[in-house]
Amino acid sequence: YEAKTNDQHISFYHPSIDKKVRKNIHLRHQLEGAIQHETMFLAYQPIVGLEDRTVVGMEALLRLGAITAPIATPSEFIPLAERTALILPIGRWVISEALRRLAELRAKGSEVTMAINVSPLQLKESGLSDYFLTQAERVGVDPSWTVIEVTESILIEHPELATSELSRLREAGVKVHLDDFGTGYSSMSWLARLPIDSIKVDRSFIADFLNDHRKAVVLDAMIRLSHDLGLGLIAEGIETAEQHEGLLAMGCDQGQGFFFGRPEPLSRSFAVPAQRIGR
Ligand code: C2E
Ligand code: MG
Ligand code: MG
Ligand code: MG
Repeated sequence: YEAKTNDQHISFYHPSIDKKVRKNIHLRHQLEGAIQHETMFLAYQPIVGLEDRTVVGMEALLRLGAITAPIATPSEFIPLAERTALILPIGRWVISEALRRLAELRAKGSEVTMAINVSPLQLKESGLSDYFLTQAERVGVDPSWTVIEVTESILIEHPELATSELSRLREAGVKVHLDDFGTGYSSMSWLARLPIDSIKVDRSFIADFLNDHRKAVVLDAMIRLSHDLGLGLIAEGIETAEQHEGLLAMGCDQGQGFFFGRPEPLSRSFAVPAQRIGR
């Protein structure tokens, strides 16, 4: 490290840090540009009933760049978008775009639901439920066709606000799904109190349960607990036929993963009524 001194502060300079900073600045410009020029798009991944592989819903996943040339993955730009609050305008675009596409699908006779990811900052910004419900009404989407995916962190850090916003959405018919369950704080006692309809079990459990007995025991407990609490359960990240069969045998009813379909722009995805997909 090389210390650089000026009147105000001493900063430590290291080439790799500099590179990271420059990459972040570049990404930030791309994020700002994406909102201005709408150079972002949504990919949609099917959510299926495990028994018969019927597509029951889709999850909208944000992509930066042109459809033909995506530039970064959400794991790179979502944290940055949250730090810079750019997630607020981006998140609104995601909501309006996903609802608009859902309206088109429903008009063609599809019965899929649309799941939209919402970050903690969006939920903290007052007015999420107003915005969501206004947009739904504008495009003719019944709120009961929609799902909002949230992670545990928001519910634990801002329980009152999250609860009131999510409760409002649920009263209007929107379903709330708890994303990445099993990775965060995951106190099982929270499940009984949160205003949620389903849990989405994180894909780390799905990747390991066939080889790791303890993961399988926890997964089995999650499935039974969700059923006993009257909650739905969706397994994330199903990549193989063996995982599909194992989950089905454990009584898991819905799933999502590359085995059934990757996130794709809508023109190329599976959003036709009750189509069966997978091998
Ligand atoms: P998530 O909501 O848990 O979404 C599932 C992620 O797992 C997606 O990654 C999806 O491509 C990936 N995935 C699905 N099936 C499989 C599988 O079988 N194997 C593997 N290895 N991966 C699978 P993606 O699209 O990169 O998104 C990552 C995360 O970024 C999402 O996780 C979500 O938390 C966040 N995100 C994506 N779009 C949005 C958005 O519009 N708004 C907000 N706030 N967050 C978003
Ligand atoms: Mg999600
Ligand atoms: Mg998830
Ligand atoms: Mg996840």
